[in-house]
Amino acid sequence: MARQAIVQSEEGDESRQRDAALRPRWLREVIGQKTVVQRLGIVLNACKKLKEPLSHILFDGPPGLGKTTFATVLPNELGTSIQTTSGPALSKPADMLPFLTNVEEGSILFIDEIHRMPRVVEEFIYPAMEDFRVDIVLGEGMNARTINLRLKPFTLIGATTRSGMLSSPMRDRFKMHEHLEYYSVEELAEIVRINARKLNTPLTDDAALELAGRSRGTPRVANARLWWARHYATSEADGAITLEVARAALDMAEVDREGLDKQDRRYLELLIGVHNGGPAGVESLAASMTLPVDTLSDEIEPYLLREQFIVRSPRGRVATARAYQVLGRAMKPAPPDDRQPSLFE
Ligand code: ADP
Repeated sequence: MARQAIVQSEEGDESRQRDAALRPRWLREVIGQKTVVQRLGIVLNACKKLKEPLSHILFDGPPGLGKTTFATVLPNELGTSIQTTSGPALSKPADMLPFLTNVEEGSILFIDEIHRMPRVVEEFIYPAMEDFRVDIVLGEGMNARTINLRLKPFTLIGATTRSGMLSSPMRDRFKMHEHLEYYSVEELAEIVRINARKLNTPLTDDAALELAGRSRGTPRVANARLWWARHYATSEADGAITLEVARAALDMAEVDREGLDKQDRRYLELLIGVHNGGPAGVESLAASMTLPVDTLSDEIEPYLLREQFIVRSPRGRVATARAYQVLGRAMKPAPPDDRQPSLFE
């Protein structure tokens, strides 16, 4: 288990470095998400003309679709600074104070995984979001005093993979709410081509499409596939990623033609093999995979649901015909419906 944790954190570090190296810096470099880009372009333009801070913005969508990218592009466009923290790092109101007291006029405070911020911290920052002030309680009991601290006008940007877990008062305080969607294969191929150029790696157009088509609709996954194909091409070929090299690299990484990786297939194998195709609860699937429930529901399931490998029922996850097909298994006949009245009733 400890070994697994170390491997996961090393993978996490590599993924973070890769993200930072390949992340677009300006709105014009952002691929796809057209309507989101257009709306942000309009508010940026308006804020510059009105000399007002940007309104608070919430980005939501599955991991790797560009929430942090948008949050880091906006301060560049505005020529302002950004401070970054995350929901799990803010366990009590005092954890917010260094960020709030450091805000510069018009600067950005980015809170990733904002749905994991405790309610007390949420309530503490409501007045900061509304009126740019916070109430700090000093001392305890009879001697307690409340100090009202004024803050410089700033913009809060929140990112969440689970907007449903945010309280509605919190959600309502964001004037803009942008939902990010999965990317088309063409958009991902464009990202892969641009990033191959950044990495000085020759890449053919058909190889870019192959990598993109096997990237689960997600730029972060496309970057990881490109990274691996580049290493593969350097070690096993002349450094250029051709269609043949891309296919061989992805096959070796156990990414199948549908873009599903080992973990996706393991999930489907457990759902079909152990849970008889479902319905199975996410907790029992997570326990069988020895993974946290959040990893399943935030990272693995959204794509499987979107591509209809699984469906959600009130009693849990159910494998579809497509899931049986991708694993090369025969679909079991549906169990008899025991709610139907018998002939003798
Ligand atoms: P999230 O915050 O939603 O988990 P990120 O913003 O960290 O996702 O995106 C992961 C990586 O994917 C980024 O570093 C960037 O290289 C790439 N990426 C994401 N969205 C886009 C986009 N719209 N255009 C180009 N690259 C993108």
